[in-house]
Amino acid sequence: MPETKIFSVNPEHVDSAIISSAAEVLKRGGLVVFPTETVYGLGADALNTQAVEKVFDAKGRPADNPLIVHISKEEQLFDIIDEMPKVGTLLTKQFWPGPLTLVVKRTFLVPDNVVAHMDTVAVRMPNHPVALALIEAFGGGVVAPSANLSTKPSPTTAQHVLSDLRGKVDMILDAGPTPIGVESTVVDITTDPPLILRHGGLPIERIAAIAPRIQVAVEVESLMRSPGTRHRHYAPAAQVVVVEEGDSEAYAAAVQTHRQQGKQVGAIVHSASLVNLERSQFVRALPNSPEIIAQQLYSLLREMDDYGVQVVVVEGIAKQGLGAAVMDRIKRAAESS
Ligand code: AMP
Ligand code: MG
Repeated sequence: MPETKIFSVNPEHVDSAIISSAAEVLKRGGLVVFPTETVYGLGADALNTQAVEKVFDAKGRPADNPLIVHISKEEQLFDIIDEMPKVGTLLTKQFWPGPLTLVVKRTFLVPDNVVAHMDTVAVRMPNHPVALALIEAFGGGVVAPSANLSTKPSPTTAQHVLSDLRGKVDMILDAGPTPIGVESTVVDITTDPPLILRHGGLPIERIAAIAPRIQVAVEVESLMRSPGTRHRHYAPAAQVVVVEEGDSEAYAAAVQTHRQQGKQVGAIVHSASLVNLERSQFVRALPNSPEIIAQQLYSLLREMDDYGVQVVVVEGIAKQGLGAAVMDRIKRAAESS
C-alpha cells in the first residue's frame, strides 16, 4: 500500500480535479476516505469483490458485518436492487439525500462479501457535497463503512481517520468535522411493518411521519437481521460508565469510586447539576442539546483516550430525536468496556 495522500476539500467549492483523481483511485480498486454528513466513510467500488475485501482488511472488520452501498442518484440503484418497495419510494422522496439507510432485496451483481452472503443490501444517498461529487464522478455504488478500525468510535474528523488508517488507505478527503456525528438510521423495508435495525442520524419520529407503522426491531431480531449489531462497537480504550441524565448523586459516586481505585477519571456531561459538580481538566461539559452531543460524542471519547483517561463517566440522555442514537452508542461503548 502506498503512503496515504490527504487532500483538503472545501465543501462549498468542491475542487473537481481532486474529486476526479479520487474517482480514478476507486476505479482502480483503491480505497478513498471521504466525508459524509454522518461520519467519515471508507470508500471502495461496491461491485469489485477485491476492492471490497480491502475494506474489511483495512478496518479489521468481521466478514459477517455487511456494508452500506452509497449512491449519488437513484439510477445507480439499477445494478444493486431489483425493486424499491413503495414505502421505500416514499421515504427516499422525503429523506434522500440524508442519514437514512434502507435494507432491500439485492441483485446478483452485488458481490457476496458486500452483503455478508445475505439476500438483502443496505443502500443510502449521503447528504454531503464531497460524497455526492465523488460518487457521481465514480459513476456507481460505493461501499463506505465508517473509516475507523473496527470496534473504535467512528471518525468525525480526518485526524481520527489518520490515527486509525494511515498507510492502509490510498487517499483521504478532508472537509472538516462531519455535521451529524453519528451513523445513519438503518431501516429494513423487506418486512411489513418496516423495522428500525439501528438508530441513527434520522430520528424515528421523522420516519414515523411518513411510515406510521414503523417499529423498532427488538434486540434479538436486530441481531439476526443486522449482523453488524452483534459486534463490539464504538469503544474507546477507556472504560465507559453511564449514569442517568441529571443523576448527580450517581455521577459523584461513580467518579469517586473509580478515583479511589487510583484511576484517572474523565467525564462527558450536560445537565447543570452534573456540570457544576466536577471541574477537573478531563470533564467535558456540553450544551443540553442532543444534536451537539451527537456531533461531539465520538470526538470526545477519542480525546479521553489521548489524555490517557482510564474511566469515562458519560451522562445519559432522553431517547427523543437524536437522543435515541446517542444513547444507543453510549450503551454499546459501555457494554464493550
Ligand atoms: P457501518 O457502515 O459500520 O455504520 O455499519 C453498517 C450497518 O448497516 C451495520 O449495522 C450493518 O449490520 C447494517 N447493514 C448493512 N447491510 C445490511 C443488510 N443487508 N441487512 C441488514 N443490515 C445491514
Ligand atoms: Mg462502523
